[in-house]
Amino acid sequence: MEIVKNYINGVWKESVSGKTEEVIGPADGSVIGVVTDSLPQDAEEAIAAAKKSFYTDRTWRDMPGVARAGILYRIAELIDENAHDLAVTDTLDNGKPLREAEGDVSDAAECFRYYAGLIDKPEGGAYATNNGFGEMLNMTVKEPVGVCAQITPWNYPLLMSCWKLAPCLAAGNSLVFKPSSKAPLSTAKLFHLFEEAGLPAGTANLVLGSGSNVGNVFAESEDVDMITFTGSTKVGQGIARAAAGNLKKVGLELGGKSPVVIFDDCDLEAAVEWVMIGIFFNGGQVCSATSRLIIQDGIHDAFIKRLAEKASKVTIGPGMENPDLGPVVSEDQMNKILSYIRTGIEEGAELVCGGKRYTENGCDKGYYIEPTVFDHCSPDMRIVKEEIFGPVLSVLTFHTEEEAVALANDTEYGLAGAVITRDGARALRVTRELRAGITWINCDQPTFCQAPWGGYKKSGIGRELSVQGLDEYQETKQININLHPENPVGWYVH
Ligand code: NAD
Repeated sequence: MEIVKNYINGVWKESVSGKTEEVIGPADGSVIGVVTDSLPQDAEEAIAAAKKSFYTDRTWRDMPGVARAGILYRIAELIDENAHDLAVTDTLDNGKPLREAEGDVSDAAECFRYYAGLIDKPEGGAYATNNGFGEMLNMTVKEPVGVCAQITPWNYPLLMSCWKLAPCLAAGNSLVFKPSSKAPLSTAKLFHLFEEAGLPAGTANLVLGSGSNVGNVFAESEDVDMITFTGSTKVGQGIARAAAGNLKKVGLELGGKSPVVIFDDCDLEAAVEWVMIGIFFNGGQVCSATSRLIIQDGIHDAFIKRLAEKASKVTIGPGMENPDLGPVVSEDQMNKILSYIRTGIEEGAELVCGGKRYTENGCDKGYYIEPTVFDHCSPDMRIVKEEIFGPVLSVLTFHTEEEAVALANDTEYGLAGAVITRDGARALRVTRELRAGITWINCDQPTFCQAPWGGYKKSGIGRELSVQGLDEYQETKQININLHPENPVGWYVH
């Protein structure tokens, strides 16, 4: 197999380590790729290339916005032209059903188009002031932050990369990038498309390898002006600590344990569908997965019965066969999820359906888990408090609206939440009470690049996507112009 290489200063090259790492496909445990396994020296070389690109060459940074937009539009076009290959790559690498991967690729192209469209519409302000210093005009302008480092997880390999790369490039930064070593292949293909689209050498540099050898160097480097990270809260906390060295800007998109709150008056069939999307989409490996079902007592029994019926009919198989549920990403992840299922049983939750590794129909070599629902959970259980990141739902019951809100907010996370009810005023009231950055009413999971994405509490710092997502990759400079330079006035002039 051809070795997938780093891309540094416009050159595809292997790590100085000379070592490689196999990429395992979760559908059957086979080797689907071989990537170079980088050392800290590779990360440092990439940072030096980005630094030279931003501070010395200045090709991308100084390029007129319209010309930069042209390259980003070309990248979007190339993503579309290579859509099938990119989708198959993510399906083989991550395990997700092909139609979900196709949706990710289409969203990835849209993300580049969205930010290409924003580049030539810069926002700034102008304020006429006349305080103790005399008549002035104050202007604000946006400038790129500088050298950005970006680190992504494996659950949406291509899409999470694009959520970071598109706004960062649009703003005129240079960057270094590390995808998850569990699913790096589509991101490496994306960097080939950057080259084909004419992105200047050194602007975007790719380093493949582990968090400790590469990600950590990014976080600690004094030459990196900003780090944006998507991944677990624990690693995110370490990155924030490491970033304190040179007080680089930090953007963190972290974990979640999001609630879906369902009231008695809901449309039961539709609500069951949304709950299933909320926990089984992408195998539950979604940061915003609504993994806690908080349901009103009057509808509880009918709802759980219908949910269990539908969950047990979910088709399971390799992503390429387009089942309802593919494998989870790796053997480690499967074992972690199975261990949480055992914990749930030990804690006394009632297993309503699922609960096992799935090995039928030729799935015995892959990493499949049955859709699992635990009922009669209590707030102190680990399966209610901790992010499992798999197809495992924990159910809690409430009687009053106040109880629902209290249960929903009883978490250290604050990424997302959904409310399902026919009562519009109540939907809005409860949603306003949720301490979470992304909320849904009468739906669960829809995501758009036009709207800001990010969490409260331990789910992160900052926002991705939307105009706000572009702003995160920009500094704001104020320029004060004295309109009467020949005539200084002020409190000290008498
Ligand atoms: P992870 O934290 O284990 O790894 C994420 C990335 O960080 C990987 O590229 C990894 O190699 C790297 N990394 C690991 N240790 C590092 C270190 N010490 N220094 C620097 N980098 C390091 O997370 P994961 O298992 O890949 O992804 C799952 C997590 O991501 C879940 O918690 C999920 O909720 C979260 N996530 C959040 C969002 C969001 O938008 N909030 C989106 C997707 C995933």
